[in-house]
Amino acid sequence: ISASSAAETEPVTPPVQIDHTQLLIDGNFVDAASGKTFPTFDPRTGEVIANVAEADSEDVNRAVSAARQAFDEGPWPKMTAYERSRILFRFADLLEKHNDEVAAIETWDSGKPYEQAANHEIPMVVRVFRYYAGWADKIHGLTVPADGPHHVQTLHEPIGVTAQIVPWNFPLLIYSWKVAPALACGNTVVLKTAEQTPLSALIVSKLLLEAGLPPGVLNIISGFGPTAGAALCSHMNVDKIAFTGSTGTGKIVLGLSAQSNLKPVTLELGGKSPFIVCRDADIDVAVEAAHSALFFNQGQCCCAGSRTFVHESIYDEFVEKSKARALKRVVGDPFRSGVEQGPQIDSVQFEKILNYIKSGIENGAKLESGGERFGSKGYYIQPTVFSNVQDNMLIAKDEIFGPVQTILKFRDIEEVVHRANSTSYGLAAGVFTKSIDTANTLMRALRVGTVWINCYDVFDAAIPFGGYKMSGQGRVRGVYGLSSYLQVKAVVTPLKNPAW
Ligand code: NAD
Repeated sequence: ISASSAAETEPVTPPVQIDHTQLLIDGNFVDAASGKTFPTFDPRTGEVIANVAEADSEDVNRAVSAARQAFDEGPWPKMTAYERSRILFRFADLLEKHNDEVAAIETWDSGKPYEQAANHEIPMVVRVFRYYAGWADKIHGLTVPADGPHHVQTLHEPIGVTAQIVPWNFPLLIYSWKVAPALACGNTVVLKTAEQTPLSALIVSKLLLEAGLPPGVLNIISGFGPTAGAALCSHMNVDKIAFTGSTGTGKIVLGLSAQSNLKPVTLELGGKSPFIVCRDADIDVAVEAAHSALFFNQGQCCCAGSRTFVHESIYDEFVEKSKARALKRVVGDPFRSGVEQGPQIDSVQFEKILNYIKSGIENGAKLESGGERFGSKGYYIQPTVFSNVQDNMLIAKDEIFGPVQTILKFRDIEEVVHRANSTSYGLAAGVFTKSIDTANTLMRALRVGTVWINCYDVFDAAIPFGGYKMSGQGRVRGVYGLSSYLQVKAVVTPLKNPAW
Protein backbone atom coordinates (compact mmCIF):
# COMPACT_ATOMS: atom_id res chain seq x y z
CA ILE A 1 0.00 0.00 0.00
CA SER A 2 1.65 3.18 -1.13
CA ALA A 3 1.92 6.37 0.84
CA SER A 4 0.46 9.73 -0.07
CA SER A 5 2.32 12.07 -2.37
CA ALA A 6 5.74 12.70 -0.94
CA ALA A 7 6.32 16.33 -0.10
CA GLU A 8 9.55 16.89 1.76
CA THR A 9 9.72 16.21 5.48
CA GLU A 10 13.21 17.71 5.62
CA PRO A 11 12.82 20.48 8.23
CA VAL A 12 12.71 24.04 7.00
CA THR A 13 14.15 26.74 9.33
CA PRO A 14 11.18 28.46 11.00
CA PRO A 15 10.94 32.16 10.05
CA VAL A 16 10.66 33.34 13.66
CA GLN A 17 12.53 33.35 16.96
CA ILE A 18 11.26 32.53 20.43
CA ASP A 19 11.49 35.48 22.83
CA HIS A 20 9.09 34.47 25.60
CA THR A 21 9.50 31.35 27.70
CA GLN A 22 8.71 32.62 31.22
CA LEU A 23 5.44 32.67 33.13
CA LEU A 24 3.26 35.77 32.83
CA ILE A 25 2.21 36.84 36.32
CA ASP A 26 0.83 40.24 37.32
CA GLY A 27 1.95 41.85 34.08
CA ASN A 28 5.55 40.58 34.23
CA PHE A 29 7.39 37.70 32.62
CA VAL A 30 8.98 35.79 35.50
CA ASP A 31 10.76 32.50 36.19
CA ALA A 32 9.05 29.72 38.10
CA ALA A 33 9.53 30.06 41.86
CA SER A 34 11.42 26.75 41.83
CA GLY A 35 13.58 27.89 38.92
CA LYS A 36 12.56 24.73 37.04
CA THR A 37 12.04 24.55 33.28
CA PHE A 38 10.81 21.91 30.85
CA PRO A 39 11.51 21.42 27.14
CA THR A 40 8.96 21.96 24.40
CA PHE A 41 9.66 19.85 21.33
CA ASP A 42 9.49 20.35 17.57
CA PRO A 43 7.12 17.63 16.26
CA ARG A 44 8.90 17.66 12.90
CA THR A 45 12.12 16.33 14.45
CA GLY A 46 11.58 15.60 18.15
CA GLU A 47 14.26 18.19 18.94
CA VAL A 48 13.94 20.82 21.70
CA ILE A 49 12.65 24.24 20.55
CA ALA A 50 13.03 25.99 23.91
CA ASN A 51 13.04 25.42 27.65
CA VAL A 52 10.03 26.95 29.31
CA ALA A 53 9.42 27.93 32.96
CA GLU A 54 7.63 25.10 34.75
CA ALA A 55 4.96 26.30 37.15
CA ASP A 56 3.92 24.42 40.27
CA SER A 57 1.54 25.23 43.10
CA GLU A 58 3.59 28.17 44.36
CA ASP A 59 3.41 29.87 40.97
CA VAL A 60 -0.29 29.08 40.77
CA ASN A 61 -0.73 30.83 44.13
CA ARG A 62 1.12 33.87 42.84
CA ALA A 63 -0.95 33.99 39.65
CA VAL A 64 -4.27 33.50 41.46
CA SER A 65 -3.36 36.26 43.96
CA ALA A 66 -2.60 38.64 41.09
CA ALA A 67 -5.88 37.76 39.37
CA ARG A 68 -7.77 38.06 42.68
CA GLN A 69 -6.35 41.49 43.35
CA ALA A 70 -7.03 42.65 39.81
CA PHE A 71 -10.62 41.51 40.22
CA ASP A 72 -11.31 42.71 43.77
CA GLU A 73 -9.37 45.98 43.71
CA GLY A 74 -8.03 46.48 40.25
CA PRO A 75 -9.54 48.45 37.48
CA TRP A 76 -10.82 45.67 35.23
CA PRO A 77 -14.34 44.86 36.44
CA LYS A 78 -14.78 48.46 37.54
CA MET A 79 -13.81 49.96 34.18
CA THR A 80 -16.62 50.93 31.90
CA ALA A 81 -17.58 48.15 29.55
CA TYR A 82 -16.77 50.51 26.69
CA GLU A 83 -13.16 50.87 27.92
CA ARG A 84 -12.81 47.11 28.18
CA SER A 85 -14.22 46.69 24.73
CA ARG A 86 -11.77 49.22 23.28
CA ILE A 87 -8.78 47.36 24.75
CA LEU A 88 -9.99 44.09 23.23
CA PHE A 89 -10.52 45.75 19.82
CA ARG A 90 -7.06 47.33 20.04
CA PHE A 91 -5.58 43.92 20.81
CA ALA A 92 -7.33 42.37 17.80
CA ASP A 93 -5.73 45.02 15.56
CA LEU A 94 -2.31 44.31 17.08
CA LEU A 95 -2.66 40.56 16.66
CA GLU A 96 -3.65 41.07 13.05
CA LYS A 97 -0.37 42.96 12.53
CA HIS A 98 1.60 40.11 14.13
CA ASN A 99 -0.42 37.38 12.37
CA ASP A 100 2.43 35.70 10.49
CA GLU A 101 4.88 35.71 13.41
CA VAL A 102 2.29 34.21 15.76
CA ALA A 103 1.26 31.65 13.13
CA ALA A 104 4.91 30.59 12.71
CA ILE A 105 5.28 30.00 16.47
CA GLU A 106 2.03 28.02 16.49
CA THR A 107 3.24 25.85 13.60
CA TRP A 108 6.67 25.26 15.09
CA ASP A 109 5.30 24.16 18.44
CA SER A 110 2.29 22.15 17.21
CA GLY A 111 3.23 20.89 13.72
CA LYS A 112 0.10 22.24 12.05
CA PRO A 113 0.48 23.53 8.47
CA TYR A 114 1.64 27.15 8.49
CA GLU A 115 -0.86 28.07 5.78
CA GLN A 116 -3.67 26.78 7.97
CA ALA A 117 -2.43 28.73 10.98
CA ALA A 118 -1.67 31.95 9.08
CA ASN A 119 -4.68 32.05 6.75
CA HIS A 120 -7.38 30.57 8.99
CA GLU A 121 -6.61 30.02 12.66
CA ILE A 122 -4.95 33.26 13.71
CA PRO A 123 -7.48 35.32 11.69
CA MET A 124 -10.21 33.34 13.49
CA VAL A 125 -8.64 34.22 16.85
CA VAL A 126 -8.77 37.89 15.82
CA ARG A 127 -12.42 37.45 14.80
CA VAL A 128 -13.34 35.84 18.14
CA PHE A 129 -11.77 38.74 20.07
CA ARG A 130 -13.62 41.29 17.92
CA TYR A 131 -16.86 39.38 18.38
CA TYR A 132 -16.61 39.43 22.19
CA ALA A 133 -15.20 42.98 22.24
CA GLY A 134 -18.48 43.92 20.59
CA TRP A 135 -20.42 42.16 23.34
CA ALA A 136 -18.62 43.84 26.26
CA ASP A 137 -20.91 46.90 26.37
CA LYS A 138 -24.09 45.02 25.44
CA ILE A 139 -24.29 42.74 28.47
CA HIS A 140 -27.12 43.75 30.78
CA GLY A 141 -29.84 42.36 32.99
CA LEU A 142 -33.62 42.50 32.85
CA THR A 143 -36.47 44.08 34.71
CA VAL A 144 -38.75 41.32 35.89
CA PRO A 145 -42.53 41.67 36.27
CA ALA A 146 -42.83 39.77 39.58
CA ASP A 147 -46.12 39.35 41.47
CA GLY A 148 -46.67 41.93 44.20
CA PRO A 149 -45.62 45.56 44.74
CA HIS A 150 -41.91 45.12 43.99
CA HIS A 151 -39.48 46.41 41.48
CA VAL A 152 -37.31 43.45 40.45
CA GLN A 153 -34.20 43.61 38.33
CA THR A 154 -31.30 41.33 37.50
CA LEU A 155 -27.68 42.41 37.39
CA HIS A 156 -25.31 40.40 35.17
CA GLU A 157 -21.98 40.48 36.97
CA PRO A 158 -18.62 38.91 36.20
CA ILE A 159 -18.02 35.68 38.09
CA GLY A 160 -14.52 36.57 39.37
CA VAL A 161 -11.17 34.79 38.97
CA THR A 162 -11.46 32.20 36.19
CA ALA A 163 -9.08 29.27 35.70
CA GLN A 164 -8.71 28.18 32.10
CA ILE A 165 -6.98 25.02 30.91
CA VAL A 166 -6.34 24.43 27.22
CA PRO A 167 -5.07 21.50 25.09
CA TRP A 168 -2.41 21.39 22.37
CA ASN A 169 -4.42 20.77 19.20
CA PHE A 170 -5.67 24.36 18.72
CA PRO A 171 -3.65 26.25 21.35
CA LEU A 172 -4.62 29.78 20.36
CA LEU A 173 -8.07 29.19 18.95
CA ILE A 174 -9.20 27.57 22.18
CA TYR A 175 -7.40 30.31 24.12
CA SER A 176 -9.59 32.82 22.25
CA TRP A 177 -12.82 30.91 22.99
CA LYS A 178 -11.98 31.17 26.70
CA VAL A 179 -10.06 34.42 27.23
CA ALA A 180 -12.18 36.69 25.01
CA PRO A 181 -15.59 36.08 26.66
CA ALA A 182 -14.05 36.01 30.15
CA LEU A 183 -12.43 39.42 29.66
CA ALA A 184 -15.42 40.92 27.86
CA CYS A 185 -17.58 40.10 30.90
CA GLY A 186 -15.06 41.72 33.31
CA ASN A 187 -13.45 38.59 34.79
CA THR A 188 -9.78 38.02 35.45
CA VAL A 189 -7.95 34.92 34.20
CA VAL A 190 -5.24 32.41 35.05
CA LEU A 191 -4.71 30.25 31.98
CA LYS A 192 -2.64 27.06 31.88
CA THR A 193 -1.33 26.14 28.45
CA ALA A 194 -0.77 22.54 27.38
CA GLU A 195 2.74 21.28 28.16
CA GLN A 196 3.21 20.34 24.48
CA THR A 197 2.43 23.86 23.18
CA PRO A 198 3.32 26.57 25.71
CA LEU A 199 4.78 29.17 23.33
CA SER A 200 2.10 30.98 21.34
CA ALA A 201 -0.06 32.05 24.31
CA LEU A 202 2.90 33.95 25.77
CA ILE A 203 3.49 36.25 22.80
CA VAL A 204 -0.24 36.79 22.29
CA SER A 205 -0.77 37.67 25.96
CA LYS A 206 2.09 40.15 25.69
CA LEU A 207 0.17 41.82 22.87
CA LEU A 208 -2.88 42.04 25.16
CA LEU A 209 -0.73 43.91 27.70
CA GLU A 210 0.49 46.20 24.93
CA ALA A 211 -3.12 46.90 24.01
CA GLY A 212 -3.71 48.21 27.54
CA LEU A 213 -4.83 45.19 29.56
CA PRO A 214 -3.98 46.04 33.19
CA PRO A 215 -1.46 43.81 35.04
CA GLY A 216 -2.90 40.76 36.79
CA VAL A 217 -6.01 40.57 34.60
CA LEU A 218 -4.52 37.77 32.47
CA ASN A 219 -1.85 35.44 33.87
CA ILE A 220 -0.28 32.59 31.87
CA ILE A 221 1.06 29.48 33.54
CA SER A 222 3.12 26.89 31.64
CA GLY A 223 3.41 23.47 33.19
CA PHE A 224 1.95 20.03 33.65
CA GLY A 225 -1.57 18.86 34.45
CA PRO A 226 -1.12 16.91 37.68
CA THR A 227 0.94 19.75 39.23
CA ALA A 228 0.05 23.23 37.90
CA GLY A 229 -3.32 22.19 36.42
CA ALA A 230 -4.52 20.37 39.52
CA ALA A 231 -3.35 23.21 41.85
CA LEU A 232 -5.36 25.66 39.79
CA CYS A 233 -8.51 23.50 39.80
CA SER A 234 -8.30 22.95 43.58
CA HIS A 235 -7.60 26.57 44.44
CA MET A 236 -10.02 28.06 46.96
CA ASN A 237 -9.67 31.54 45.46
CA VAL A 238 -10.67 30.53 41.95
CA ASP A 239 -14.33 31.16 41.10
CA LYS A 240 -14.74 29.16 37.90
CA ILE A 241 -12.95 26.60 35.71
CA ALA A 242 -13.16 26.41 31.93
CA PHE A 243 -11.46 23.22 30.76
CA THR A 244 -10.80 21.78 27.30
CA GLY A 245 -9.13 18.41 26.97
CA SER A 246 -9.82 14.71 27.23
CA THR A 247 -12.88 13.23 28.91
CA GLY A 248 -10.69 11.43 31.46
CA THR A 249 -9.05 14.67 32.59
CA GLY A 250 -12.44 16.41 32.56
CA LYS A 251 -13.64 13.96 35.20
CA ILE A 252 -10.58 14.72 37.36
CA VAL A 253 -11.17 18.47 37.01
CA LEU A 254 -14.81 18.14 38.06
CA GLY A 255 -13.67 16.10 41.08
CA LEU A 256 -11.11 18.75 42.08
CA SER A 257 -13.83 21.40 42.05
CA ALA A 258 -16.10 19.19 44.17
CA GLN A 259 -13.32 18.56 46.69
CA SER A 260 -12.44 22.26 47.02
CA ASN A 261 -14.95 25.11 46.75
CA LEU A 262 -17.53 23.80 44.23
CA LYS A 263 -16.52 26.37 41.64
CA PRO A 264 -18.65 25.93 38.51
CA VAL A 265 -16.94 24.01 35.71
CA THR A 266 -17.47 24.10 31.96
CA LEU A 267 -15.98 21.22 29.98
CA GLU A 268 -15.18 20.75 26.31
CA LEU A 269 -14.09 17.16 25.92
CA GLY A 270 -13.54 14.43 23.37
CA GLY A 271 -15.74 12.97 20.66
CA LYS A 272 -16.30 10.16 18.18
CA SER A 273 -18.47 12.07 15.78
CA PRO A 274 -20.55 10.32 13.10
CA PHE A 275 -20.39 11.56 9.51
CA ILE A 276 -23.44 10.13 7.73
CA VAL A 277 -23.53 9.86 3.94
CA CYS A 278 -27.03 8.99 2.72
CA ARG A 279 -27.82 7.22 -0.57
CA ASP A 280 -28.92 10.48 -2.25
CA ALA A 281 -25.78 12.47 -1.29
CA ASP A 282 -23.53 14.00 -3.93
CA ILE A 283 -20.76 11.43 -3.61
CA ASP A 284 -17.82 13.55 -4.74
CA VAL A 285 -18.73 16.42 -2.44
CA ALA A 286 -19.30 14.00 0.46
CA VAL A 287 -15.97 12.19 -0.12
CA GLU A 288 -14.05 15.45 0.03
CA ALA A 289 -15.98 16.68 3.08
CA ALA A 290 -15.56 13.37 4.93
CA HIS A 291 -11.85 13.42 4.11
CA SER A 292 -11.27 16.87 5.57
CA ALA A 293 -13.68 16.20 8.47
CA LEU A 294 -11.29 13.47 9.57
CA PHE A 295 -7.83 14.50 8.35
CA PHE A 296 -8.00 18.24 9.18
CA ASN A 297 -5.29 19.21 11.71
CA GLN A 298 -3.63 15.77 11.38
CA GLY A 299 -6.86 14.19 12.67
CA GLN A 300 -6.32 15.93 16.00
CA CYS A 301 -9.77 17.51 16.31
CA CYS A 302 -12.23 16.97 19.11
CA CYS A 303 -15.03 17.08 16.54
CA ALA A 304 -13.27 14.98 13.87
CA GLY A 305 -15.81 13.08 11.74
CA SER A 306 -14.25 9.85 12.93
CA ARG A 307 -17.00 7.37 12.10
CA THR A 308 -17.85 7.69 8.41
CA PHE A 309 -21.21 5.90 7.94
CA VAL A 310 -21.98 5.33 4.24
CA HIS A 311 -25.18 3.90 2.74
CA GLU A 312 -24.66 0.42 1.32
CA SER A 313 -25.83 1.42 -2.19
CA ILE A 314 -22.86 3.79 -2.61
CA TYR A 315 -20.40 2.19 -0.18
CA ASP A 316 -17.91 0.64 -2.63
CA GLU A 317 -17.66 3.75 -4.78
CA PHE A 318 -17.27 5.94 -1.67
CA VAL A 319 -14.46 3.77 -0.29
CA GLU A 320 -12.62 3.74 -3.64
CA LYS A 321 -12.80 7.55 -3.89
CA SER A 322 -11.85 8.10 -0.24
CA LYS A 323 -8.80 5.91 -0.69
CA ALA A 324 -7.79 7.82 -3.83
CA ARG A 325 -8.20 11.13 -1.97
CA ALA A 326 -6.12 9.94 1.00
CA LEU A 327 -3.35 8.79 -1.34
CA LYS A 328 -3.26 12.30 -2.81
CA ARG A 329 -3.05 14.04 0.56
CA VAL A 330 0.13 16.12 0.75
CA VAL A 331 2.14 15.24 3.87
CA GLY A 332 5.29 17.14 4.71
CA ASP A 333 7.08 19.84 6.64
CA PRO A 334 4.27 22.14 7.80
CA PHE A 335 6.23 25.25 6.83
CA ARG A 336 6.22 24.20 3.16
CA SER A 337 3.60 25.66 0.87
CA GLY A 338 0.81 23.30 -0.24
CA VAL A 339 1.31 20.85 2.64
CA GLU A 340 -2.01 19.56 3.98
CA GLN A 341 -0.73 17.40 6.81
CA GLY A 342 2.18 17.90 9.20
CA PRO A 343 3.43 15.65 12.00
CA GLN A 344 1.41 14.47 15.02
CA ILE A 345 2.06 16.43 18.20
CA ASP A 346 4.47 14.08 20.01
CA SER A 347 5.84 10.57 20.37
CA VAL A 348 3.06 9.57 22.78
CA GLN A 349 0.29 10.35 20.28
CA PHE A 350 2.37 8.94 17.40
CA GLU A 351 2.76 5.55 19.12
CA LYS A 352 -0.86 5.52 20.26
CA ILE A 353 -2.17 6.11 16.72
CA LEU A 354 0.11 3.43 15.21
CA ASN A 355 -1.19 1.00 17.85
CA TYR A 356 -4.79 1.78 16.88
CA ILE A 357 -3.89 1.11 13.24
CA LYS A 358 -2.42 -2.22 14.29
CA SER A 359 -5.57 -3.11 16.22
CA GLY A 360 -7.73 -2.22 13.19
CA ILE A 361 -5.75 -4.65 11.04
CA GLU A 362 -5.80 -7.38 13.72
CA ASN A 363 -9.56 -6.98 14.20
CA GLY A 364 -10.18 -7.57 10.49
CA ALA A 365 -10.88 -4.10 9.12
CA LYS A 366 -9.58 -3.67 5.56
CA LEU A 367 -6.61 -1.31 5.26
CA GLU A 368 -7.21 0.69 2.07
CA SER A 369 -4.34 3.17 2.33
CA GLY A 370 -1.52 4.27 4.63
CA GLY A 371 -1.02 2.36 7.85
CA GLU A 372 2.56 3.35 8.65
CA ARG A 373 4.75 6.25 9.66
CA PHE A 374 5.60 8.73 6.92
CA GLY A 375 9.28 9.47 6.35
CA SER A 376 11.93 8.52 8.86
CA LYS A 377 12.06 11.34 11.39
CA GLY A 378 9.52 13.31 13.41
CA TYR A 379 5.97 12.16 14.06
CA TYR A 380 4.48 11.95 10.57
CA ILE A 381 1.84 9.27 9.85
CA GLN A 382 0.51 8.24 6.44
CA PRO A 383 -3.13 9.20 5.81
CA THR A 384 -4.85 5.92 6.65
CA VAL A 385 -8.24 4.63 5.48
CA PHE A 386 -10.02 1.52 6.78
CA SER A 387 -13.13 -0.01 5.18
CA ASN A 388 -15.29 -2.89 6.46
CA VAL A 389 -15.16 -1.40 9.92
CA GLN A 390 -17.56 -2.88 12.49
CA ASP A 391 -19.08 -0.95 15.41
CA ASN A 392 -17.45 -3.15 18.05
CA MET A 393 -13.87 -2.62 16.81
CA LEU A 394 -11.63 -0.43 18.96
CA ILE A 395 -10.98 1.91 15.98
CA ALA A 396 -14.76 2.56 15.74
CA LYS A 397 -15.16 3.16 19.48
CA ASP A 398 -12.12 5.07 20.77
CA GLU A 399 -11.07 8.60 19.96
CA ILE A 400 -7.94 7.88 17.85
CA PHE A 401 -7.01 11.57 17.44
CA GLY A 402 -4.97 10.89 14.32
CA PRO A 403 -5.15 10.58 10.53
CA VAL A 404 -7.16 7.34 10.47
CA GLN A 405 -10.51 7.27 8.66
CA THR A 406 -12.88 4.41 9.48
CA ILE A 407 -15.68 3.76 6.96
CA LEU A 408 -18.74 1.82 8.12
CA LYS A 409 -21.73 0.60 6.08
CA PHE A 410 -25.42 1.21 6.91
CA ARG A 411 -28.78 0.17 5.46
CA ASP A 412 -31.48 2.54 6.71
CA ILE A 413 -31.90 5.78 8.61
CA GLU A 414 -33.34 4.32 11.79
CA GLU A 415 -30.40 1.92 12.03
CA VAL A 416 -27.77 4.64 11.47
CA VAL A 417 -29.36 6.91 14.08
CA HIS A 418 -29.20 4.13 16.62
CA ARG A 419 -25.56 3.31 15.78
CA ALA A 420 -24.48 6.95 15.60
CA ASN A 421 -25.91 7.57 19.07
CA SER A 422 -24.45 4.38 20.57
CA THR A 423 -21.45 6.10 22.12
CA SER A 424 -20.78 7.94 25.34
CA TYR A 425 -19.74 11.00 23.29
CA GLY A 426 -22.03 13.60 21.71
CA LEU A 427 -19.97 16.43 20.27
CA ALA A 428 -20.88 16.77 16.58
CA ALA A 429 -22.25 15.02 13.50
CA GLY A 430 -22.23 15.49 9.73
CA VAL A 431 -25.15 14.60 7.46
CA PHE A 432 -24.96 14.44 3.68
CA THR A 433 -28.32 14.17 1.89
CA LYS A 434 -30.42 16.04 -0.67
CA SER A 435 -33.65 15.15 1.14
CA ILE A 436 -35.05 17.76 3.51
CA ASP A 437 -37.04 15.03 5.24
CA THR A 438 -33.92 12.99 5.96
CA ALA A 439 -32.07 16.12 7.12
CA ASN A 440 -34.96 17.09 9.42
CA THR A 441 -35.12 13.60 10.90
CA LEU A 442 -31.39 13.31 11.51
CA MET A 443 -30.81 16.81 12.91
CA ARG A 444 -33.36 16.04 15.64
CA ALA A 445 -32.47 12.41 16.30
CA LEU A 446 -28.70 12.86 16.72
CA ARG A 447 -27.71 13.52 20.34
CA VAL A 448 -24.87 15.94 19.64
CA GLY A 449 -24.05 19.61 20.19
CA THR A 450 -23.54 20.50 16.50
CA VAL A 451 -25.06 19.02 13.33
CA TRP A 452 -23.47 20.10 10.08
CA ILE A 453 -25.74 19.36 7.11
CA ASN A 454 -24.01 19.10 3.73
CA CYS A 455 -20.95 20.76 5.26
CA TYR A 456 -18.53 20.12 8.14
CA ASP A 457 -16.27 22.05 10.53
CA VAL A 458 -17.96 25.37 9.86
CA PHE A 459 -16.64 27.41 12.77
CA ASP A 460 -17.69 30.94 13.52
CA ALA A 461 -17.32 33.18 16.55
CA ALA A 462 -21.12 33.47 16.74
CA ILE A 463 -21.99 29.75 16.48
CA PRO A 464 -22.24 27.99 19.87
CA PHE A 465 -20.14 24.86 20.33
CA GLY A 466 -20.20 22.16 22.98
CA GLY A 467 -21.07 18.59 23.77
CA TYR A 468 -23.92 16.36 24.83
CA LYS A 469 -23.20 13.39 27.13
CA MET A 470 -19.51 12.84 27.96
CA SER A 471 -18.35 15.35 25.34
CA GLY A 472 -18.83 18.18 27.78
CA GLN A 473 -20.87 20.63 29.78
CA GLY A 474 -21.81 24.14 28.73
CA ARG A 475 -21.22 26.01 25.48
CA VAL A 476 -18.43 28.18 24.15
CA ARG A 477 -18.72 30.89 21.45
CA GLY A 478 -21.65 33.02 20.50
CA VAL A 479 -24.03 34.60 22.96
CA TYR A 480 -24.26 31.23 24.77
CA GLY A 481 -20.53 31.46 25.54
CA LEU A 482 -21.10 34.51 27.74
CA SER A 483 -23.42 32.93 30.27
CA SER A 484 -20.82 30.79 32.03
CA TYR A 485 -18.72 33.91 32.71
CA LEU A 486 -21.56 35.79 34.40
CA GLN A 487 -23.41 35.62 37.67
CA VAL A 488 -27.05 36.68 37.71
CA LYS A 489 -28.00 38.71 40.75
CA ALA A 490 -31.68 39.34 41.52
CA VAL A 491 -32.37 42.69 43.19
CA VAL A 492 -35.77 43.31 44.78
CA THR A 493 -37.07 46.69 46.04
CA PRO A 494 -40.57 47.49 47.34
CA LEU A 495 -42.38 49.93 45.05
CA LYS A 496 -43.33 51.93 48.11
CA ASN A 497 -41.63 51.47 51.48
CA PRO A 498 -44.40 51.08 54.13
CA ALA A 499 -42.28 53.00 56.72
CA TRP A 500 -42.14 56.19 54.64
P1 NAD B 1 -5.53 16.28 28.24
O1 NAD B 1 -6.81 16.10 28.97
O2 NAD B 1 -4.46 15.31 28.43
O3 NAD B 1 -4.90 17.69 28.55
C1 NAD B 1 -5.63 18.90 28.41
C2 NAD B 1 -5.11 19.91 29.41
O4 NAD B 1 -5.40 19.44 30.73
C3 NAD B 1 -3.60 20.13 29.36
O5 NAD B 1 -3.34 21.51 29.56
C4 NAD B 1 -3.10 19.32 30.54
O6 NAD B 1 -1.89 19.77 31.08
C5 NAD B 1 -4.24 19.50 31.52
N1 NAD B 1 -4.32 18.47 32.56
C6 NAD B 1 -3.92 17.18 32.50
N2 NAD B 1 -4.12 16.56 33.69
C7 NAD B 1 -4.68 17.47 34.52
C8 NAD B 1 -5.10 17.45 35.88
N3 NAD B 1 -4.99 16.36 36.63
N4 NAD B 1 -5.64 18.57 36.40
C9 NAD B 1 -5.76 19.69 35.66
N5 NAD B 1 -5.34 19.78 34.38
C10 NAD B 1 -4.82 18.69 33.80
O7 NAD B 1 -5.97 16.36 26.72
P2 NAD B 1 -5.02 16.54 25.45
O8 NAD B 1 -4.49 15.22 25.09
O9 NAD B 1 -4.09 17.67 25.64
O10 NAD B 1 -6.07 17.05 24.38
C11 NAD B 1 -6.75 16.21 23.57
C12 NAD B 1 -8.17 16.02 24.06
O11 NAD B 1 -8.84 17.28 24.11
C13 NAD B 1 -8.99 15.17 23.13
O12 NAD B 1 -9.75 14.25 23.87
C14 NAD B 1 -9.89 16.17 22.44
O13 NAD B 1 -11.07 15.62 21.95
C15 NAD B 1 -10.12 17.17 23.50
N6 NAD B 1 -10.51 18.45 22.92
C16 NAD B 1 -11.79 18.86 23.03
C17 NAD B 1 -12.21 20.05 22.45
C18 NAD B 1 -13.63 20.50 22.54
O14 NAD B 1 -13.87 21.66 22.23
N7 NAD B 1 -14.56 19.66 22.94
C19 NAD B 1 -11.30 20.83 21.75
C20 NAD B 1 -9.98 20.38 21.64
C21 NAD B 1 -9.59 19.19 22.24
